[in-house]
Amino acid sequence: MLNRRSLLKHLSAMPLVGGLFGGSAPLTAALAAPLAPRNLVKELGIRTFINAAGTYTAMTGSLMEEDVVNTILASSKEFMMLDDVQTKVGEKIAAITHAESAVVSAGCFSAMTLGLAGVLTGMDQKKVEALPHLEGTGMKSEVIAQKAHNIGYSHALTNTGCKIIQVETIEDVEKAINDKTALLWFLNIQSDKGQITHQQWVDLGKKHNIPTMIDIAADVPPVENLWKFNDMGFDLVCVSGGKAMRGPQSAGLLMGKKKYIDAARLSMPPRGSTLGRGMKINKEEILGMYVALEKFVARDQDKDWKMLEDRAKHITDAAKSVKGVTVETFAPALGNHTPTMRVTWDTTKLAPKALQEALRNGNPSIEVVGEPMGISMTAWMLKPGEEKIVATRLKEELTKASV
Ligand SMILES: *Cc1c(COP(=O)(O)O)cnc(C)c1O
Repeated sequence: MLNRRSLLKHLSAMPLVGGLFGGSAPLTAALAAPLAPRNLVKELGIRTFINAAGTYTAMTGSLMEEDVVNTILASSKEFMMLDDVQTKVGEKIAAITHAESAVVSAGCFSAMTLGLAGVLTGMDQKKVEALPHLEGTGMKSEVIAQKAHNIGYSHALTNTGCKIIQVETIEDVEKAINDKTALLWFLNIQSDKGQITHQQWVDLGKKHNIPTMIDIAADVPPVENLWKFNDMGFDLVCVSGGKAMRGPQSAGLLMGKKKYIDAARLSMPPRGSTLGRGMKINKEEILGMYVALEKFVARDQDKDWKMLEDRAKHITDAAKSVKGVTVETFAPALGNHTPTMRVTWDTTKLAPKALQEALRNGNPSIEVVGEPMGISMTAWMLKPGEEKIVATRLKEELTKASV
């Protein structure tokens, strides 16, 4: 049998190649293409940049580590049963995160939708196929959330057909609970904004026998958060895989009680006629996510933190050396817990948007976050050494504008 290389050699030696392929030059080109490495970024004119902004979905999240990419490549060469991959990987992930069970979802958002789907349907196949239409099915239809937590991401829950019942106090929760209440949902990143604490939320769920779910999408690091909320007694915990954990951007984890995970999987691919059929995660991403999690848990967090502080210091020293520029470095307690720099100056001399544009349009292109009084930056998505480029470019632009 001819392999691709000898086939091409064979073809090019034939005078009538054009005839054989109906005169299709692009087809012969496409056949030959895999032999030469393509640079699609260049070919399609896609802008790449130094990411001094952070783990933003629009900026493609984070960069996968080499071990994750290698896992994806290696696993792409074999067929496997999708359910088998999820089950085997899920057992490992559950053990790492102190959960009864776990499954890899298509991001934190889909983890929430599927987790709630599992709560609503249980193992009833009829109910699975009915979602998101709840009426007349006997399924519950309300999710209770604190008003301060009810920001955009709760759409993941209303996707199931449920509506959100907003509360502010424990008393409100007690009053809101009725026989239609499916879930008590908590959003970690807003936990300092609501009046009810994590533990009180879990206790309310246990008292009324209603499952609790927490969204910790952007809340690792600290790594302990991966098991803290499972230990605390939340029934379901949802996290993004493609942010600081550096798994595939499209991956996330749904962890928690086995009965809910088992039920959630009834709404997941490969099963059709389900709410979650479009929330597919492939074997490569599932295995890649597992490796990313393993690596993330094994990291030396203190060493990482010191490295990020050093990078941040390099950038802030350069910015501060420009007269009139003030820099504050802090780490948000909730969400994106990493050294973060806020650079401010007299913005009548240089609008934050103008600086952002100048850095974006420079070579290399750099992304930062625009704020009303300046810009903010993080160092965790930088590749080693990029802090030097960011420092130089930032100083250059601030100096040029004589802020
Ligand atoms: C990013 C994020 C999500 C969505 O997570 P994906 O992994 O992108 O699906 C949900 N909730 C919060 C608080 C987030 O920051």
